[in-house]
Amino acid sequence: MLKKIVTSDPQAYLNKKYRIEADAGYFNARNDIFSRSVWDDKVDAKDFYRSYDIANFKPKKSKGFDHWDFAFRNASWHLTDRIGERHFEDTGAVEGFTDPYTLQSPGPTSKAEVNDPKETSRRLKLAALKFGAGAAGICEVDRRWVYAQKYNRKAGTNPPVDLPSKLRYAILLIIPMDHALSKTYPTALSGASTGLGYTVGLSCAVSLAQFITNLGYEAVASMNDTALNIPMAIQAGLGEYGRNGLLITPQFGPNVRIAKVFTDLPLLADQPVEFGVERFCASCNLCATSCPVRAIPDGQPQSDPPNISSLKGITKYTVDAERCFRFWVGLNSDCAICIRVCPYNKDFSKWWHRLALKWSSLALVRRMLLFLEKKLKFGEKQASATWWMR
Ligand code: SF4
Ligand code: SF4
Repeated sequence: MLKKIVTSDPQAYLNKKYRIEADAGYFNARNDIFSRSVWDDKVDAKDFYRSYDIANFKPKKSKGFDHWDFAFRNASWHLTDRIGERHFEDTGAVEGFTDPYTLQSPGPTSKAEVNDPKETSRRLKLAALKFGAGAAGICEVDRRWVYAQKYNRKAGTNPPVDLPSKLRYAILLIIPMDHALSKTYPTALSGASTGLGYTVGLSCAVSLAQFITNLGYEAVASMNDTALNIPMAIQAGLGEYGRNGLLITPQFGPNVRIAKVFTDLPLLADQPVEFGVERFCASCNLCATSCPVRAIPDGQPQSDPPNISSLKGITKYTVDAERCFRFWVGLNSDCAICIRVCPYNKDFSKWWHRLALKWSSLALVRRMLLFLEKKLKFGEKQASATWWMR
C-alpha cells in the first residue's frame, strides 16, 4: 500500500535509508558513461551513435532490427536530437544531456500573484499532466544531486554547473513510456519507447518552464543534464529505488523517463513514498538474472560502485554502467530488459494489477506474485512483428 513518509526533512529520510555518507553526491558528469565514451578508451561506442542517423543504420537479420524498426526508432528520437544538438557546433552543448534546454521566450515584466504555495503547486502539477507527464512531484533542490561539473563533448572541457541557488525548487516529471513497445526490449523497435519518452519529456519540461516564465518567474527545463533525476524524484514522492538502478513508480513501474524544471516560484515540496519496493527487490532478482551481461547486482546494496560512472558513499544497488553500455553498443540500440522483466512493469490501467500492487507490501502476497510472475512469464519478450500488428 502506498505510504507517504511524513517527514519535515526528506533529506534526512534519504540519508538514513541509503546510509548516505557526508561527502557523497556532487557527481562529475564527465564520468557518465556517455561522456566517457568521448574521452575514455575503456568505453568504446563504436557505431552506436552513428546508427541513430538513418544514413548509417545497418539492418540485422534478428527480428526487431529491420529497416522499419530503425526508421521508427530514429524518428522517435528526431526532435530530441535535432533540438538538443542545435548549438553543438557553436558551443558543444547537447541540450537535455549535457546542458539544460534554452528554448524559452522571455517572460513579462510583471509577476503573477502567488500567495499560496500549495495552490501554486497544484496548478503546476495540473499543467504538467496536460503537457504530457503521467505524474509530477516537487522537491526542494538538494545540492548534493546537482552535478559538480558538466562535460563539453566537443571541447573536452569540464566546467562547473551553474544552477543559481535561488532556484530552490524542482518539479519532477514522470513520463510514461509505451508499455507494449517496452515489451519488445531489446530491439531497435523498442528503442522507440525510449526515444518517445525523451521527446515527450522535452516537450513537457520546456512547456512547463515556459508556463512558469509566463508567470514572471525563472525556470530551467532539464532532462538528464544538470542534476541526478532519481534521488530528486524519490524526494519528490514519485517512487522508490529498485535493484535495476531505476525509479519504480506506483503508476507505471520502472517504465518511465524523468524530466524536471528548476524554479524560484515558491512551492510546496512533496513527501517521499514507500509501497514495498525495497522488500520486493530483496526477494526478487529477476532483473539481475535476466541481464545478459550481469550488470545488475544480485546481492545486498553496497556503497562502493563498480566504476567511476556511479556515485560512491550511498548504500544502494548500482548497475555496472560499463558492462551495460558495452551490451548496448553490441546491440546498436538501448537495452531495457531490466524494465521489461520487472514485476512492477505492468499496465496499471488494469484493476487486477492495481490490486496486486496495493497488497504487494505483504510478504505472502509478494511471494505469490513472484511465483505467478515466473510461472506465467509476464516479462517475456514480445515479438516486434506482434507490435507492428497492433
Ligand atoms: S539495460 Fe540491459 S544490459 Fe543494461 S542493466 Fe538493464 S538488462 Fe542489463
Ligand atoms: S525485477 Fe525484481 S529485483 Fe529487479 S527492480 Fe524489479 S522488483 Fe526489483
